[in-house]
Amino acid sequence: MEFGFTAADEAFRMEVRDFFQTQYPREVIDKINRGYSPSKEDYQHSERALAARGWLAVNWPREFGGTGWTANQKYIFDEELERAGALNVVPMGLLYVGPVIYTFGTDEQKKRWLPGILQSTVFWAQGYSEPGSGSDLASLQCAAVCDGDDYIVNGTKIWTSQAQHADWIFCLLRTDNAGRKQEGITFLCIDMTTPGVSVKPIVTIDGKHVLNSVEFADVRVPMANRIGEEGKGWDYANYLLGHERTSYAHVAGKRKLLREIREAASTTGDGSLAHEAAFLTRLAALEARLDALEITVLRTLASVSEGGSPGDESSILKVIATELAQDITELGAESFGYYGLISFPDSATPPWAGNTPVPAGAAPAVARYLGTRAQSIYGGSNEIQKNIIARRILKL
Ligand SMILES: Cc1cc2nc3c(=O)[nH]c(=O)nc-3n(C[C@H](O)[C@H](O)[C@H](O)COP(=O)(O)OP(=O)(O)OC[C@H]3O[C@@H](n4cnc5c(N)ncnc54)[C@H](O)[C@@H]3O)c2cc1C
Repeated sequence: MEFGFTAADEAFRMEVRDFFQTQYPREVIDKINRGYSPSKEDYQHSERALAARGWLAVNWPREFGGTGWTANQKYIFDEELERAGALNVVPMGLLYVGPVIYTFGTDEQKKRWLPGILQSTVFWAQGYSEPGSGSDLASLQCAAVCDGDDYIVNGTKIWTSQAQHADWIFCLLRTDNAGRKQEGITFLCIDMTTPGVSVKPIVTIDGKHVLNSVEFADVRVPMANRIGEEGKGWDYANYLLGHERTSYAHVAGKRKLLREIREAASTTGDGSLAHEAAFLTRLAALEARLDALEITVLRTLASVSEGGSPGDESSILKVIATELAQDITELGAESFGYYGLISFPDSATPPWAGNTPVPAGAAPAVARYLGTRAQSIYGGSNEIQKNIIARRILKL
């Protein structure tokens, strides 16, 4: 098994690096660096720059408008994107529903929905979780009942990321209560402008509005919006899960954060933190864990390139990558000391802060620390990943 990159891979890296330096919108990078939440327009600006270069649908096969890149190229692209401080793509269309549509959808559905995703003109949300159904997703109860050529949808979805920006939502809905709970679930795409759909914001501890609850009250949805067969939605939804979890590594983004922490320690206050043994020991331990994560990612990539699948091992990546992200951002927030209490980037500086010269990185670091707590919850919580590791890898 070969770890690392070929000369052709390294040449590709230079091409990607040049793109982010010369052709990607600088104002988006600046806004993200200051810790502000990207708007829908920022996402579109970013995604259209990538689309213009043919690099938006990185994971899609070439026949559907994707890059057709190797696993190494995809990894290098992600690394360079994060190194530049650019925006990750909104995953709901490009990573989640797009592949489900081109794999299981009809030709009509592909023609109808794929172009909007590829041109970043149509935004999607993912309607899986419900107030009583998260880890045990198959227990979901939001229902779709047949009525002529339509379904009538009633119920509530929650923690729906970016639903306030979404034009469409893809949902797992209950169409049958008999038999195994996984068997009565149907995959339906719903136009967010349909009468009866309402979105309520949920503001999180980092001061940001990303999450929502989405309510459906007698929402009429044409059967033509169903992907695949009724009752088979669970199979379609699970299709790409293993591949998705490898995308949590974000090695280059973590290296960037560690560099920023080192810098903040020497420029905040009298800069003495940068020489404290306890701080340096924590920083070194995080750097060592990041090196270990990178080797684990490269090992997974090598097995994918040799025709394997990341499979259950991607659960290991998910756990170590998200725990490391939480520990790095914790040190990041601490390295700004009390300056971190001043304000979140998205809210006004409170009057009591007066003219205090707050280091530029302080507010983003604290918002990042708080926001990163969610990483061990979404995408299948880390406890659930540990169950998978115990059962399927360790055979306990
Ligand atoms: C920032 C964020 C964005 C999200 N975006 C979306 C989205 O766009 N669309 C969407 O559909 N959902 C989204 N989610 C929801 C997410 O998928 C769920 O929060 C997640 O699956 C956990 O479900 P839950 O919140 O209902 O917690 P629960 O399932 O109730 O779990 C509560 C706790 O119990 C633990 N637990 C549960 N079952 C077990 C078990 N069998 N063994 C051991 N421990 C267990 C969990 O690990 C957790 O610590 C998002 C969540 C967050 C935080």
